[in-house]
Amino acid sequence: MHCPFCSAEETKVIDSRLVAEGHQVRRRRECADCHERFTTFESAELVMPRVIKRDGTREPFNEEKLRAGLQRALEKRPVSTEKVEQCVLQLKSTLRATGEREVESGFLGNLIMDALKELDKVAYVRFASVYRSFEDIKEFGEEIARLGD
Ligand SMILES: [Zn+2]
Repeated sequence: MHCPFCSAEETKVIDSRLVAEGHQVRRRRECADCHERFTTFESAELVMPRVIKRDGTREPFNEEKLRAGLQRALEKRPVSTEKVEQCVLQLKSTLRATGEREVESGFLGNLIMDALKELDKVAYVRFASVYRSFEDIKEFGEEIARLGD
Protein backbone atom coordinates (compact mmCIF):
# COMPACT_ATOMS: atom_id res chain seq x y z
CA MET A 1 0.00 0.00 0.00
CA HIS A 2 0.99 3.63 -0.45
CA CYS A 3 2.81 5.51 2.28
CA PRO A 4 0.29 7.55 4.34
CA PHE A 5 2.94 10.22 4.96
CA CYS A 6 4.38 10.94 1.53
CA SER A 7 2.17 8.78 -0.74
CA ALA A 8 5.15 6.92 -2.16
CA GLU A 9 4.09 3.67 -3.78
CA GLU A 10 6.83 1.51 -2.31
CA THR A 11 6.45 0.42 1.29
CA LYS A 12 7.89 -2.73 2.72
CA VAL A 13 6.72 -5.00 5.51
CA ILE A 14 9.29 -5.10 8.31
CA ASP A 15 7.32 -7.18 10.80
CA SER A 16 4.21 -9.32 10.57
CA ARG A 17 2.44 -11.13 13.35
CA LEU A 18 -0.87 -12.73 14.18
CA VAL A 19 -3.00 -10.92 16.73
CA ALA A 20 -6.52 -11.32 18.15
CA GLU A 21 -6.08 -15.07 18.44
CA GLY A 22 -5.07 -15.42 14.82
CA HIS A 23 -8.05 -13.51 13.41
CA GLN A 24 -5.94 -10.53 12.40
CA VAL A 25 -2.49 -9.89 10.96
CA ARG A 26 -0.65 -6.86 12.26
CA ARG A 27 2.04 -5.52 9.92
CA ARG A 28 4.68 -2.91 10.54
CA ARG A 29 5.61 -1.21 7.30
CA GLU A 30 8.31 1.21 6.33
CA CYS A 31 8.27 3.66 3.46
CA ALA A 32 11.18 3.24 1.06
CA ASP A 33 11.18 7.01 0.38
CA CYS A 34 10.60 8.88 3.64
CA HIS A 35 11.36 5.94 5.98
CA GLU A 36 8.30 6.64 8.14
CA ARG A 37 6.88 3.55 9.79
CA PHE A 38 3.21 2.67 10.19
CA THR A 39 1.01 -0.25 11.18
CA THR A 40 -1.74 -1.99 9.27
CA PHE A 41 -4.24 -4.58 10.46
CA GLU A 42 -5.66 -7.14 8.12
CA SER A 43 -8.71 -9.26 8.84
CA ALA A 44 -11.16 -11.23 6.72
CA GLU A 45 -14.21 -9.31 5.58
CA LEU A 46 -17.17 -11.59 6.03
CA VAL A 47 -20.80 -10.87 5.63
CA MET A 48 -22.68 -10.53 8.89
CA PRO A 49 -26.38 -11.27 9.21
CA ARG A 50 -28.70 -8.29 9.49
CA VAL A 51 -30.46 -7.70 12.78
CA ILE A 52 -34.28 -7.79 13.05
CA LYS A 53 -35.33 -5.32 15.71
CA ARG A 54 -38.32 -5.77 17.98
CA ASP A 55 -40.46 -3.46 15.83
CA GLY A 56 -39.70 -5.62 12.79
CA THR A 57 -37.31 -3.22 11.10
CA ARG A 58 -33.93 -4.52 9.94
CA GLU A 59 -30.58 -2.93 10.45
CA PRO A 60 -27.07 -3.94 9.44
CA PHE A 61 -25.01 -5.63 12.12
CA ASN A 62 -23.04 -2.88 13.83
CA GLU A 63 -19.76 -3.94 15.38
CA GLU A 64 -19.20 -0.54 17.00
CA LYS A 65 -22.58 -0.73 18.69
CA LEU A 66 -21.79 -4.22 19.98
CA ARG A 67 -18.42 -3.07 21.33
CA ALA A 68 -19.99 0.01 22.94
CA GLY A 69 -22.63 -2.15 24.62
CA LEU A 70 -20.01 -4.47 26.03
CA GLN A 71 -17.86 -1.57 27.20
CA ARG A 72 -20.82 0.08 28.89
CA ALA A 73 -21.60 -3.14 30.79
CA LEU A 74 -17.92 -3.59 31.64
CA GLU A 75 -17.32 -0.02 32.78
CA LYS A 76 -14.89 0.07 35.74
CA ARG A 77 -14.67 -3.72 35.76
CA PRO A 78 -11.30 -5.51 35.81
CA VAL A 79 -11.55 -6.78 32.22
CA SER A 80 -8.84 -5.95 29.68
CA THR A 81 -9.47 -4.34 26.29
CA GLU A 82 -7.93 -7.44 24.74
CA LYS A 83 -10.60 -9.60 26.41
CA VAL A 84 -13.34 -7.31 25.11
CA GLU A 85 -11.92 -7.55 21.59
CA GLN A 86 -11.78 -11.34 21.83
CA CYS A 87 -15.38 -11.30 22.95
CA VAL A 88 -16.39 -9.14 19.94
CA LEU A 89 -14.59 -11.52 17.56
CA GLN A 90 -16.16 -14.53 19.20
CA LEU A 91 -19.66 -13.06 18.99
CA LYS A 92 -19.14 -12.20 15.33
CA SER A 93 -17.95 -15.69 14.48
CA THR A 94 -20.92 -17.20 16.34
CA LEU A 95 -23.28 -14.95 14.37
CA ARG A 96 -21.68 -15.91 11.06
CA ALA A 97 -21.74 -19.57 12.01
CA THR A 98 -25.55 -19.43 12.16
CA GLY A 99 -25.47 -19.12 8.36
CA GLU A 100 -28.56 -16.91 8.64
CA ARG A 101 -29.00 -13.76 6.60
CA GLU A 102 -31.03 -12.19 9.40
CA VAL A 103 -31.17 -12.82 13.14
CA GLU A 104 -33.59 -11.52 15.79
CA SER A 105 -32.16 -8.84 18.08
CA GLY A 106 -33.20 -11.10 20.98
CA PHE A 107 -30.93 -13.84 19.68
CA LEU A 108 -28.03 -11.39 19.58
CA GLY A 109 -28.92 -10.15 23.07
CA ASN A 110 -28.81 -13.70 24.43
CA LEU A 111 -25.42 -14.30 22.82
CA ILE A 112 -24.10 -11.15 24.47
CA MET A 113 -25.52 -12.17 27.85
CA ASP A 114 -23.92 -15.61 27.59
CA ALA A 115 -20.58 -14.05 26.68
CA LEU A 116 -20.75 -11.56 29.57
CA LYS A 117 -21.70 -14.30 32.00
CA GLU A 118 -18.35 -15.93 31.19
CA LEU A 119 -16.44 -12.67 31.22
CA ASP A 120 -17.69 -10.81 34.27
CA LYS A 121 -20.75 -11.52 36.40
CA VAL A 122 -21.34 -7.89 37.39
CA ALA A 123 -21.28 -6.82 33.74
CA TYR A 124 -23.66 -9.64 32.95
CA VAL A 125 -26.14 -8.44 35.56
CA ARG A 126 -25.84 -4.83 34.32
CA PHE A 127 -26.45 -5.83 30.72
CA ALA A 128 -29.25 -8.24 31.50
CA SER A 129 -31.08 -5.80 33.75
CA VAL A 130 -31.21 -3.25 30.92
CA TYR A 131 -31.85 -5.76 28.21
CA ARG A 132 -34.39 -8.11 29.69
CA SER A 133 -38.07 -7.26 29.48
CA PHE A 134 -40.12 -6.64 32.60
CA GLU A 135 -41.90 -10.05 32.44
CA ASP A 136 -38.53 -11.74 32.82
CA ILE A 137 -37.75 -9.90 36.03
CA LYS A 138 -38.73 -12.77 38.34
CA GLU A 139 -36.74 -15.33 36.41
CA PHE A 140 -33.86 -12.87 36.25
CA GLY A 141 -33.99 -12.32 40.01
CA GLU A 142 -33.68 -16.06 40.51
CA GLU A 143 -30.72 -16.12 38.19
CA ILE A 144 -28.94 -13.37 40.15
CA ALA A 145 -29.60 -15.32 43.34
CA ARG A 146 -27.92 -18.35 41.78
CA LEU A 147 -24.87 -16.27 40.81
CA GLY A 148 -24.30 -15.59 44.48
CA ASP A 149 -23.79 -19.30 45.22
ZN1 LIG B 1 6.77 7.85 2.73
